[in-house]
Amino acid sequence: VVSFRDVTKDFMGGSMFARRSTRAVDGASFDLHAGEIMALVGESGSGKSTIARILARLEQPSDGRLIVEGIDVLRDEPRRASRRYRNTVQMVFQDPFGSLNPTKRIRHFLERPLAIYSDLSGAQRREEAAALMRSVELDPALLDRHPHELSGGQRQRVAIARALAVNPKVILADEPTSMLDVSVRMGVLQLLKRLRDERGISILYITHDLASARFVADTTIVMLRGALVEGGASAEVMDAPQHPYTRLLVSAAP
Ligand code: ATP
Ligand code: MG
Repeated sequence: VVSFRDVTKDFMGGSMFARRSTRAVDGASFDLHAGEIMALVGESGSGKSTIARILARLEQPSDGRLIVEGIDVLRDEPRRASRRYRNTVQMVFQDPFGSLNPTKRIRHFLERPLAIYSDLSGAQRREEAAALMRSVELDPALLDRHPHELSGGQRQRVAIARALAVNPKVILADEPTSMLDVSVRMGVLQLLKRLRDERGISILYITHDLASARFVADTTIVMLRGALVEGGASAEVMDAPQHPYTRLLVSAAP
């Protein structure tokens, strides 16, 4: 569904007199197939979120091609992503604590995309919001609460439900470093697996945690200073790492 072809991203920085640029992504190529869960691992600053932001089209690459569902998106939709594109790729848990407007009730976050992207009536949207809550294993009674009245894990599930409202083909999950406790995280990972199995959604899961990558991901790619240095079946990458950096990562993992 998704192909990155030699994607490079330079961020301009520095002052007017001393221009400096950072190469956040350096010629990255990979494919994410239909129904595949792929983990993207690598140290802080290696360019993982930049990859996610390019795929979500929040960031324009400096070079390379991005092909999504057969469309060469940077060539064919160079200025801004089409509505179809925005419905195809959805990003979740960037910021599970801050991305939900605290003054709104949970139902707002689920009914709003339905109002924009579907032609369901008000009553149908209410029903669909409840169905979305059930699909992420939350009690629809929580729809009338505000974000601060939910736990962090529940908010993550709401963020996933909101992404599901538009029936995406691809979900991007950029995990924050300060994570929830292990059992809550495992629950969310189980949920992602189930969504993949039931809906055939492809998932790019960005994490620092190799154990979660191994648990959830069919394939794992490893990023080092903007470049992809290794990739393959998760078990193979972790049991028989080829690149010295991957070996280091695996040996350092708890
Ligand atoms: P972490 O694991 O800490 O989330 P990451 O792998 O997601 O790290 P990125 O956020 O992709 O790393 O950052 C890659 C590099 O690009 C870093 O050197 C970062 O400082 C730089 N960078 C990211 N966004 C910008 C920006 N908007 N402007 C300038 N430099 C940026
Ligand atoms: Mg990041």
